[in-house]
Amino acid sequence: MSQYYNPKRKRNFFDPKSGEPFRLSRSKIDLFLGCPRCFYLDRRLGVGRPPGFPFSLNSAVDFLLKKEFDIHRAEQTAHPLMEAYGIKAVPFEHKMIGEWRDNFKGVQYHHQSTNFIVTGAVDDVWVNLKNELIVVDYKSTSKNGEVNIDAEWQIGYKRQMEVYQWLLRKNGFDVSETGYFVYCNGDTDKNAFDGKLEFNIKIIPYTGNGNWIEGALIGAHKCLSGDKIPAADKDCDYCNYINAAQSVVPRGRRGEKKVKQSGQIPPFQQEKAGQAFLL
Ligand code: SF4
Repeated sequence: MSQYYNPKRKRNFFDPKSGEPFRLSRSKIDLFLGCPRCFYLDRRLGVGRPPGFPFSLNSAVDFLLKKEFDIHRAEQTAHPLMEAYGIKAVPFEHKMIGEWRDNFKGVQYHHQSTNFIVTGAVDDVWVNLKNELIVVDYKSTSKNGEVNIDAEWQIGYKRQMEVYQWLLRKNGFDVSETGYFVYCNGDTDKNAFDGKLEFNIKIIPYTGNGNWIEGALIGAHKCLSGDKIPAADKDCDYCNYINAAQSVVPRGRRGEKKVKQSGQIPPFQQEKAGQAFLL
C-alpha cells in the first residue's frame, strides 16, 4: 500500500445509526453531485478514490498570493490588482481568517436537518464598502490564450464559490453575490526560461447562486442513509476499468471470499441506474 493512500479507511465514515454530527466538506458535496456511487463508497464505506499527484506548483502560487494579500490585510489597503480592476474593497481582517483558510477546519456550519457539519476552506475573503464579504478563490494554470471559467468542467469552481458564500452567510455575515477568481496563468511565451516562471494574473468576477445547496445536502444525506450502493455511471472510465479488470481476473485471485467473511463490505444491492437523490 502506498504511503499516500489507504484504500479502506477504518474511521471517518457515515454511520446512519450515530447521532453524532458528520463533517462534510464542500469537495465531498461536489463528489456526491459528480457521482453518488463514488460518494457512497467513500463516505459510507470508507473506500475513497486514490488521490492524484499533489499540485505543488499550484500550492506554491496560492501560498505566495496569500502572503501578498496578507500584507494588504495588515495595512487595510487595496492590492494593486484590486485597484487595476476597479474593485472597491480591501482584504478582510478577522480573527477567524486563519481558521477559515485551514483545510482541516475551514468555515463551518452545522446543518440541523441533516446533522452535517458542512466545511469549506477559503483562499481569501475581502470586504467591500457596503461591509459585504467577498469570497475570493485563487486558481493557477498554464495555457495559451486567456483564462476563463466557461468550460463545462469548471462547474466545480462555481459550486466551490457558492458553498463558501453560503457558509459565510450561515455564519451571520452579509456576503456579496459577486465573488472573484484570481486566476494566474504561467507564461510559456518567453525566449528564455532562466529558472523563472512568470504569470499573467486576471481577476474574473462570478455571481454565485447557492440555491442548489440545500437540496444537495438533503440528497447527500438520503444517499448515505440508504443501504443500497448507487449505480455507476455507464460512461465513467474508472468503473468501466474496474468491471473489465474483474472480468479478466480469475475469481479465486480477487479475495472475494475474504471480503465476505470479514463482513467489511455488506452485500448491498445495486441501486437502479438513474435513480436520483437530489430533491
Ligand atoms: S462511476 Fe464508478 S469510478 Fe466513476 S465516479 Fe462513479 S463510482 Fe466512481
